[in-house]
Amino acid sequence: MNIILLGAPGAGKGTQAKRISEKYKIVHISTGDIFRENIKSGTPLGVEAKKLIDKGQFVPDDLTCQTVESRLSNSDCKNGAMLDGFPRNLYQAEFLKQITNIDKVINIAVPLECLMARLTGRRVCRECGESFHIDSLNGETKCSYCSGELYQRDDDNEEAVATRLAIYTTKTQVLIDYYEKLGVLKTVDGSKEKSDVFKEIEVLLD
Ligand code: AMP
Repeated sequence: MNIILLGAPGAGKGTQAKRISEKYKIVHISTGDIFRENIKSGTPLGVEAKKLIDKGQFVPDDLTCQTVESRLSNSDCKNGAMLDGFPRNLYQAEFLKQITNIDKVINIAVPLECLMARLTGRRVCRECGESFHIDSLNGETKCSYCSGELYQRDDDNEEAVATRLAIYTTKTQVLIDYYEKLGVLKTVDGSKEKSDVFKEIEVLLD
């Protein structure tokens, strides 16, 4: 089964993807994570991607599509995969349609006006990738799940977030209609607690 998680930056795609992948044993493919791993290890892709990601801009479609195509060709994807952060525009959606079938698209809907505060206050665990918000951390700097160090992503500053949200509105939001028309879209309410959002997703996947 191939699943796409759609949603604005900060809607909770990464958090829910982690839970879905653990419960349903589906490979989780996050283009953002792949780019960040490449940045960390200093590959040519990472060097190219960093300049754009830090400003909140998209990595070019050709690089992104090649990255996804190559990842999907790995043997661990033969029973399906869950894509988080791809596709992000119509070109990528059309590309994906040529290379694989899509069974379900889950749109995590959150009012856009909530997302600036969610993202600029977000802290992420370096070890397990879990996300937290400074408002609930009470000054804690370690992950409550695995004790990993919490950090702020370079693109979670106000300027980059504003760009990311603007690009979401102009390029990505159209994919809601696109997948609705293909009859594969389901929407969950991403403004709820993480565990309640996951319960809604479980109903769609069970
Ligand atoms: P994410 O971790 O999904 O928030 O992605 C972080 C950043 O990686 C995005 O703001 C983009 O700069 C880049 N990125 C991730 N996925 C894509 C994509 N499908 N197309 C273009 N750029 C992407």
